[in-house]
Amino acid sequence: MTELDLLLMGPPGAGKGTQGRLLGEALGVPWVSSGDLLRHAVEDGSALGEEARGFMSRGDLVPDRVIVGLMSRRLQEPDARGGFIADGYPRTVPQADALAAALDALGRRLTAALAILLPDDEVVDRLSGRRTCPRCGRVYHVEHEPPVRAEHCDADGACLIQREDDSAETIRRRVAVYHKDSEPLIAYYGERGLLREVDGIGPPEVVAERLHAAAASSA
Ligand code: ADP
Ligand code: ADP
Repeated sequence: MTELDLLLMGPPGAGKGTQGRLLGEALGVPWVSSGDLLRHAVEDGSALGEEARGFMSRGDLVPDRVIVGLMSRRLQEPDARGGFIADGYPRTVPQADALAAALDALGRRLTAALAILLPDDEVVDRLSGRRTCPRCGRVYHVEHEPPVRAEHCDADGACLIQREDDSAETIRRRVAVYHKDSEPLIAYYGERGLLREVDGIGPPEVVAERLHAAAASSA
């Protein structure tokens, strides 16, 4: 059996979470968001969460060793045996090397790295209007993707929140960190023949079709 091991990359706000959920449902593999895993660790008050908290609220990346352990364990859980969609991981070259080594040890290889492209001014617009369900992680946008009932999640009715790191100053910081630490992964996966770039502008259903086509052509 060939696993469908996919990465969803792109700047903060590119639509990774929105698309990861849709693509996971369409392909029948779990969508695993590194940001959601970290936020749950923070909420649980675990030692790992305590370590991650400060980095996240400043808009910095958490140290590689923290996220590599967390994601490696998650991607080896039984539901990911047939594949996964990793959203927001890897975000640095050392993380990408660690992922390749972990997959290699399992006799697996990445299927493709899907990169959603979005210019910085769109990133700021999307992140400043984002609302998130604290229960299921589903995301909305006050203008572009509003919930049916204002301020409440369509899926489970929970009261939506604005993430602490979706403030103007932290957004600027996260965009800068993306360009410095994460954008080099575009070249990294390009050199390995795994990169599929997809335009992130357009309605979510249209972006979903582009991603689906890119994933299907790689499988
Ligand atoms: P977004 O997609 O909006 O950038 P995420 O939910 O993916 O946000 O990530 C939120 C925060 O969690 C990041 O700003 C960073 O602090 C931390 N984080 C998530 N994934 C990683 C990672 N792979 N490496 C380091 N830090 C990460
Ligand atoms: P990421 O996980 O990459 O940070 P999200 O999926 O959380 O991105 O999307 C960021 C914000 O942009 C959310 O408010 C979401 O509702 C909105 N959004 C996502 N995709 C689109 C799209 N194609 N067009 C307009 N807004 C979008």
